[in-house]
This record gives sequence, structure tokens and C-alpha cells, in this order.
Amino acid sequence: MTTHQVDLVVPDLGDFSDVDVIEVLVEPGDEVAIEESLITLETDKASMDVPATHAGKVGSVNVKVGDKVNAGDIILTLETAELHESHATVMLSPEEQQEILTAAAAGPAGQEQTDAGHRAQLVVIGSGPGGYTAAFRAADLGLEVILVERYPVLGGVCLNVGCIPSKALLHAAKVIDDAEAMADHGVKFGRPTIDAPALRDWKNKVVGRLTGGLTQLAKQRKVKVVQGTAKFASPNRLVLDSGDTIDFEYCIIAAGSQSAALTGTPDDPRIVDSTGALELDPIPKRLLVVGGGIIGLELACVYSALGTKVSVVELTDALMPETDPDLVRPLRKIIDKRYESIMLDTKVTGMQATQAGIEVTFEGKNAPENQVYDKVLISIGRRANGDLLDCDKAGVNVEKRGIIPVNKQMQTNVPHIFAIGDLVPGPMLAHKATHEAKVAAEVAAGEKSAFDARTIPSVAYTDPEVAWVGLTETDAKRDGISYDKTKIPWAASGRALALGRDEGFTKLLFDKSTGRVIGGGMVGPNAGDLVAEVGLAIEMGADAADIGLTIHPHPTLSETIAFAAEAFEGTITDLYMPKKR
Ligand SMILES: Cc1cc2nc3c(=O)[nH]c(=O)nc-3n(C[C@H](O)[C@H](O)[C@H](O)COP(=O)(O)OP(=O)(O)OC[C@H]3O[C@@H](n4cnc5c(N)ncnc54)[C@H](O)[C@@H]3O)c2cc1C
Repeated sequence: MTTHQVDLVVPDLGDFSDVDVIEVLVEPGDEVAIEESLITLETDKASMDVPATHAGKVGSVNVKVGDKVNAGDIILTLETAELHESHATVMLSPEEQQEILTAAAAGPAGQEQTDAGHRAQLVVIGSGPGGYTAAFRAADLGLEVILVERYPVLGGVCLNVGCIPSKALLHAAKVIDDAEAMADHGVKFGRPTIDAPALRDWKNKVVGRLTGGLTQLAKQRKVKVVQGTAKFASPNRLVLDSGDTIDFEYCIIAAGSQSAALTGTPDDPRIVDSTGALELDPIPKRLLVVGGGIIGLELACVYSALGTKVSVVELTDALMPETDPDLVRPLRKIIDKRYESIMLDTKVTGMQATQAGIEVTFEGKNAPENQVYDKVLISIGRRANGDLLDCDKAGVNVEKRGIIPVNKQMQTNVPHIFAIGDLVPGPMLAHKATHEAKVAAEVAAGEKSAFDARTIPSVAYTDPEVAWVGLTETDAKRDGISYDKTKIPWAASGRALALGRDEGFTKLLFDKSTGRVIGGGMVGPNAGDLVAEVGLAIEMGADAADIGLTIHPHPTLSETIAFAAEAFEGTITDLYMPKKR
């Protein structure tokens, strides 16, 4: 066989020059396939992988991490059996994605497109974590897939205005709070200067990197992306706002949810939902958060760290009402000191936009006199989008508040139409959406699959973080389920003390008859990462001995889970606890 040497070069980078190489993914001797990523480039707007335009064996690699490259620079030399025409690749920035989506809409070879519209084996409505996961999994299983998204950027709420931007800002908040806390331990920093536009840009860069990556992943899988707002025209046809149609054999509805509105709220830019709050524009002196759920408290945490005086008003008698009260208590203790006020059992009865600010009237147990705020964040829950899609034209049932009922295969009452994510019953969480997505895609591709998760973890990324999974004590008491419990204070954890954070605890709940773990939760830094172990324990049917005898690294917060199991077993030595059974 004749081999040729080919230089693989940096493709057209649009307006970009001197672009940073942040990762080199291959080394001499590696065999690479066409489209396999060679290097990752990053600009101030986005990052992208440069794929191989030829298959073959890598000879020399000419770039390294930290290099700056331009279009035409040689990345590596490849020994290849055949010469293919070079593919051009463009840099992806959020602004450029519109262009790419339009180009992608031209569709891969093999997918039929007529003047009247598009046709696919599977169409997915919505490109959030549910939609893109479903589309990619289905394409990997061999289906021809069209992904319809109403916005020019992929990623849905989670990537664009939800999980990811909020966590980027929460990270900034944590750095500020941690730096301040060190003053008590001998390290003093000056007061931070907050450059809101720069912070916003950084958050947008994080988002752009992920959403740009999704566009690339869709391209690599030959998932055809069509921009438009879809509605059903019949059980096998969607119609877009452009008038185009998409005929399909299977459809997965992944159209997500939106912030619930508070009736009677005036239309004023100082009254925002979570999307508006993530813009930090401007950072107010005084903020009222309406709703003491997870999203409201996370954003309260961000603004408080940025110097805003925060008040929270909640209709019920508890913050994060779905969470065990003991898990919320350490958070409450901290924010009681930091926030201007936390008003439980209190309702907002009116809002008026004045020159001085938003004047709010309250009613209830802890209602203050009328107050004027610079900004009001409405965070009273989310509403499913199931009733915005003309589902009746396809015969798909939609329940109250836009929820679409499904079976374990994620099928609606119309078996070739599936629904996943925020618009089906259950918690509105990205990790639930992605798991449901895989099931729907697999069933559509003819595989046997079912959504059979024993548990779905929940996390509030506040400071301290609050996380739980499986049975909660609140649910157990309500449903008359008896259980055993251990609870370990983080004051017993060397790592928690070294972090200066001993306010937390870890608890585990066990089935009384089998001794298996059936629930657990923790509060403290990184609780959201720790809870995954308890989730795995529940899925695997582990008991206290399984966890306690698993060697956990020292000194880590993960030891608190092992301590809780040891406490249940009566083998703990890091604390004195009389044996309970
Ligand atoms: C501020 C905030 C923070 C959050 N933090 C977390 C977190 O830390 N962890 C977590 O698990 N969850 C978090 N969530 C929730 C998480 O974002 C959602 O659970 C998740 O995005 C749901 O995914 P989905 O695919 O069902 O829908 P979505 O992400 O809502 O995506 C739906 C997509 O469908 C598109 N669409 C809707 N209608 C149509 C139509 N007719 N035609 C075409 N396209 C359409 C929308 O534009 C959207 O892109 C957060 C949410 C918010 C608001």
C-alpha cells in the first residue's frame, strides 16, 4: 500500500488570529480517524476542537499547549493511505453559531429534504440537556435525527441561563466569601473590587465554550439542526414558525420549562426572573428575592457575595420546603447573619414601579411595612412548556401546568411520540433530563430500555451546599415509612476543620429490615459532589458495612459518609457514639 505524508493544518479561523492551543489530544504514533479531534483551540469567545481531515498515523506533532496558532499553521504530519480533500472548519463563537446552524440545516447526505420541508426518522424538539442528549444518543444508534431549537444557540436553559452560568457566578461568590473568611485565620485580603461586565463576560465565555462544543458534537454525529419554533400539525408532522414542516417517524418532546410568572407584576426592567438576574446588570444595592426555593437562594448567595443587601420572602414556613429541615438549618444560620431579612409565611401582595425603586407590599406573619428595592427577582418555580406545542393535533395528552404524562419508556399516550425532561413529571433537573433522554432515544431505536432510576439527587449550590438523595425524613414521616438513621457532625472531620467549615453534617437513612441505604444527605462545602456516593450506594443496594469497609481517602469530606456508616455499624472511632442496635 502506498502511503503519503500530509500536513494537517489549522483551518480558517474567521476573524481570529494568534489563537491559544489549550490541549493537544494526539501524540506521535497515534492512529487517528477522520473527524477525530487533534487539538483544542480557545479564543476569548469560545473553544473548539480541530478535527482530523484525513485518517492515518501521526508522524510529528508541531504544536504544544500554550502555543498561539493561525490559519494554515501545521498542526502535525500524518502518514495516510489515501489522500482526501481537506475539510474546512470554522471557529465557533456564540455569535457565529447562527451562521453554522443555518449551514447545518442544509443537512447531511442521505436525509431527505424537499421544498415542502424536512423529513427524519426522529425529530427532537428542544436542545436542552434532554434534547441534545436524546438527539446524540439516537444518532449514535443509527437513526437519522433532526434537532429543532427555537434559539440560535444550543444547550437550552441549563447551559445558557441555568445550571452552568449560575454555577460560574456561584464560584465567584465562593472565592469572595472564602477570601473574607480567611481574615479570621490570619490571611487578610482587601475588599474585592467587582467588575460586573468582566464577570459577566467570563460567565458568558464558560457558556459559549459549552454551547459551541454542542454545535460541534451535533455536526460530528450528522445530527441536522434546524432553527425554529415547532408545533405539532399532526401525529407525524411538525410545523415551524417559518412555515417549514418536518415529517417524522418518531418524535421526542424536550421543550423544557420557563420561569413561572407572578401575576400582577409590573413590566419593569428592575423586576427580573433568573435569566435577568444572571446578567448582573446592574448589581443592585438592595435586592428582594421572591421565593425561597433552590434557584432563588443560589442567586441570593451570588448577589450577597457581590455586596448586595439581600432579602428573601417565602410563602411557606420554610426555605427549600421540599428539603429536610435539619439539612437547611446550617444554611439558614449563616444567611440569617448575612441577609437583610428572611421573611417566611409571607406573601408579596403588590409591586409598584417608582423612580426610587420597586415598592413592594407584603402580607403575612412576618410582613414588614412597604419596602423599596433596587431590584426584585421573581423565583417562584418553573412551569412546563408542554401546552405550547399544539400537542392535541398529535393526540398527545397534556396535564395541568404543561406537564406531559409518560410511561417508563418515556412514551406519551401516542407511542411513537416521547417526552422527557422538565415537561414530564418529577423534579426539574438536568441530570434527570439526560437519563430520560437516553431511554427515549434507545426505545425509538428499537432497544429495550426503561427509566428505572431508584433515586434522583438534588443539590442546592448555596454556601454551604445542601444535597440529598433517595428517601428524605420528611417523606418517610408523611408516608409512614420506618427507617434507621445516623448523623455525623462535620466537626469530626479533619478536612472540614482544615477548611474552616465545621457547620455541616452527613446523614444516612437505612431500611429497617434489610439495613440497606435508602436515603442520605449532607450540608457543607462540596455536598453536591459528595451526595453521588450515597446515590450509588442506593442504586447498588449497599448497606452500612459496604460503605464503612470501603476505604475512603483521608483527609476528605467523603470520609463523613464512611463515618456515618461506621456509626451505624458501631465501629466508628473518630467519635464516641453509643451503639444504637
Ligand atoms: C437559574 C437556574 C439554575 C439551575 N440550576 C440547575 C442545577 O444546578 N442543576 C440541575 O440539575 N438543574 C438546574 N436547573 C434546571 C435545569 O436547567 C433544567 O432542569 C434543564 O435545563 C431541563 O432540561 P430540558 O432539556 O428538559 O429543557 P430546557 O433546558 O428547558 O431546554 C428546552 C429547550 O427547548 C427549546 N424549545 C422550547 N419550545 C420549543 C419549540 N416549540 N420549538 C423548538 N424549541 C423549543 C427551548 O428554547 C430550550 O432550548 C436550573 C435552572 C435554572 C433556571
